[in-house]
Amino acid sequence: MKIPYGKQSISSEDIDSVVDVLKSDFLTQGPIVPEFESQLAQYCETPYALAVANATMGLHLACRAINIGKNDRVWTSPNSFVASANCALYCGAKIDFIDIDPNNYNLSVNALTKQLTIAKENNALPTAIIVVHFAGFSCDMDEIYNLSQQYDFKIIEDASHAIGSEYQGSKVGSCQFSDITVFSFHPVKIITAGEGGMILTKDKAIYQSLQLLRNGGITKEQSLMDGESHGGWYYQQIDLGYNYRMTDIHAALGLSQLNRLDKFIEKRQSIAEYYNQHLSRLPLQLPTIDSSRKSAWHLYVILIKTDKTKITRKHLYDTLHQKGIGVQVHYIPIYQQPYYQEMGFDPSDYPNCEQYYQTCLSLPIYVELTQQHQDSIINTLTEIFKEDL
Ligand SMILES: *Cc1c(COP(=O)(O)O)cnc(C)c1O
Repeated sequence: MKIPYGKQSISSEDIDSVVDVLKSDFLTQGPIVPEFESQLAQYCETPYALAVANATMGLHLACRAINIGKNDRVWTSPNSFVASANCALYCGAKIDFIDIDPNNYNLSVNALTKQLTIAKENNALPTAIIVVHFAGFSCDMDEIYNLSQQYDFKIIEDASHAIGSEYQGSKVGSCQFSDITVFSFHPVKIITAGEGGMILTKDKAIYQSLQLLRNGGITKEQSLMDGESHGGWYYQQIDLGYNYRMTDIHAALGLSQLNRLDKFIEKRQSIAEYYNQHLSRLPLQLPTIDSSRKSAWHLYVILIKTDKTKITRKHLYDTLHQKGIGVQVHYIPIYQQPYYQEMGFDPSDYPNCEQYYQTCLSLPIYVELTQQHQDSIINTLTEIFKEDL
């Protein structure tokens, strides 16, 4: 038996919807992409949604749409996938990181506040902050939004883990406390489109700019053109855009999966609750289940309490893998990557993230994980820590 840490769940309806597209007139952007966009916008209660080929491209477009360029500073969480920081570098901006909160592993509002105070003195305030809702647990958006008003920065939510999550009673993606939200539909995420991403905003100007950038910077809108149209064939390139479009094939899968999103999250939540119940005796810091901030439970992360056990993370990782349990580490701090090390980041500036990375491990969590799988994971963990009980 081989249990991965995450995996998609594909139904016969999903397969039928993709096959229907293959038999239709449109393979690339046809009628299904706008349908997927409109249903997800409705789900998140936000006016505009724009589908893209993946979330990495979504984050790049988000930065472009708020005019991030080479004179800008962008800050993000180091406990994320590299795409959360790379998107700013694509635009030539300077990137910096904010240490994490040791309780929820999101960027720490205290650390952010301190860093903003110092940056103000040095005339080095960020233009934008990219928050990451790690594992599906929303950041403290209310407080971050208040800081954005005080220090005048934009907010992009990298919600790759958090489609279906809620904060203060509204869906992540509503953009209530941000300018733009980006979701990912990679197969390990909550719902999948094979590859895919979605950008949400409530700002019409941002939306129009995103549309243009997704499609080569090309428009057929007379109102946006310089001079008169030459005729029906005519278009103009008015910005440096890309081909970041999603195909109807991918959108059909995403749209079909969207119907089961709430069910998927219920299942993930019950898996998390079951782990929490059955691992509580072990020397582990378990994730908090906070009913006021519904999580999509993309990841279930445990931390080894190193003062309570001699078992190391490496030992735990290797032993579980030998037994076919595909645990993972989320994440290697971005500033530790060689590409970022060349920019001179000092790990000791991020003590919480360093501490976290030493002891974190993601246990398997996905819709098709059975209770039998979970019991075997729990029993294996209990066996490994038996000397500490
Ligand atoms: C998966 C992920 C991405 C990138 O998503 P893709 O769709 O694979 O490009 C970005 N940020 C975070 C936090 C992710 O987990």
